[in-house]
Amino acid sequence: MYGPSVRRHRRAILYARVSKHDRAGGDKAKSVDQQIAEMQAQATREGVTVLSVLRDDGISASRYAKNKTREGWQEVTAALLAGGVDELWAWELSRMTRDRMVYAKLVGTCIATGVLLNVDGKLHDPSDPDDGFMLDMQASLAVRESGITSRRVKRDVEARAQAGKPHGKVPYGYARTYEHRSSGRILLEQVPDPTTEPVVRELVARLLRGESAYSIAADFDRRGIPSPETHRARRVHGPDAPVTPWRLETVRDLALSPTLAGQRVHNGQVIGQATWTPIISAGDHLALTTLLRGEAQRQHRPGTVRHLLSGIAECAVCGAPLRHMLNRGTPSYWCPGPDRRGRACVCRAKDKLDALVVLHVVGRLRDPELLHDLAVRREGTGAAVTAAVAELQDLRAQLAAFVQAAAEGSVSATSFATIEAGLQRKIDAAAQRVPRTGPLPAAVVDAAGPQAEQVWDSLDLDRRRQIIRALVRVVVHKSSLPKGSRRFDPSTIELIPL
Ligand SMILES: [Zn+2]
Repeated sequence: MYGPSVRRHRRAILYARVSKHDRAGGDKAKSVDQQIAEMQAQATREGVTVLSVLRDDGISASRYAKNKTREGWQEVTAALLAGGVDELWAWELSRMTRDRMVYAKLVGTCIATGVLLNVDGKLHDPSDPDDGFMLDMQASLAVRESGITSRRVKRDVEARAQAGKPHGKVPYGYARTYEHRSSGRILLEQVPDPTTEPVVRELVARLLRGESAYSIAADFDRRGIPSPETHRARRVHGPDAPVTPWRLETVRDLALSPTLAGQRVHNGQVIGQATWTPIISAGDHLALTTLLRGEAQRQHRPGTVRHLLSGIAECAVCGAPLRHMLNRGTPSYWCPGPDRRGRACVCRAKDKLDALVVLHVVGRLRDPELLHDLAVRREGTGAAVTAAVAELQDLRAQLAAFVQAAAEGSVSATSFATIEAGLQRKIDAAAQRVPRTGPLPAAVVDAAGPQAEQVWDSLDLDRRRQIIRALVRVVVHKSSLPKGSRRFDPSTIELIPL
């Protein structure tokens, strides 16, 4: 058996870890710094060379901790396999792992590479039967402990759910009250939050009055009301957290939320009444569910799929809006005639007309003067708006140049992430200062800039149609080509910039 005296020169890696649960457990758990200090003192006493100190702070080592990477531990494993290490130190075996599979791998690696384990100041050789037995026992205890914790947590969660009590993230619209104890805080109550509850109430009232989720989202953004994502980010990271705009889905999700209607959801199912006060009444919840679910189904029913230019492109002959139809199998836009029954005045292949209009619109969006022109040309907007528009254009140009530089490799990934985040925050702030109604619809403000092509690709059909309506009139003239010709003559399409 090896003894510390056998090896003349000892090279060790120190590993320390503490989980959030350990921390909440009171004074029994030593902090990562304390663990490291103790081990370092011992290393100095015994003349051991410390190769590296690796740590994982606030991370569990149990198999129940899903999606959490222990980066420190991964480095440990890599270092052991790379060789040149004599000993791996930890304050307790449970610091290294609480997972059987990870433990088995560790022991395998140690035996293969001749690495000894120093646990709680005592050196063990995993390949020695007696030492190995001691280590296995400690590992078994660590595994058992985490299994018991996991079971207790699961039971608590289940019990809270059955009792209709809150659990998990604080839902938008509510705040929580806690009792603070030395072992951590205990959730007392979930109550309507004075800042966000009125937002939910307004949203519900407006939806029930027939206003669209989109226009509510745009209005909330214009008024600078933080979206649920922004609200949460600010609570966690402070007032400078990045801003996430309101989206159509945000409005819908809030309106349909069973939590806001005072229902307790567990594993994705409503299991009964919750203990907290509902913000949305049972009647309103039912009305909203019928309204919004019905709307979603109507939109997705085959045959009512909308097209980029239906109702937007106009017939030059009679002025009627064009509709979509299949013309001998080819998706097309056609004019149903002024009385909507006659023979088609004009007809064009959908893909060709769509492509022509998109080319025009994206070109306009990329024009650095677009927002400025729109702001000035329409109802002579004030200087503040013009300045905000100019700043927004400038920031978007900076970001585009910067993305280009990063793509060419002249900026490191880390500084790219930092600078990009900073620029994006400024862009969001500048965009907030531009009025988003009237001459400058929100969709256009959001999409204009050097990145317009990428932005366009990411937009849904609704937004694309809003932008087209805001920027151009599409007038389709009678074709000069013989009837039935498959060719597309762009000169018969009149695009009138607005
Ligand atoms: Zn017509």
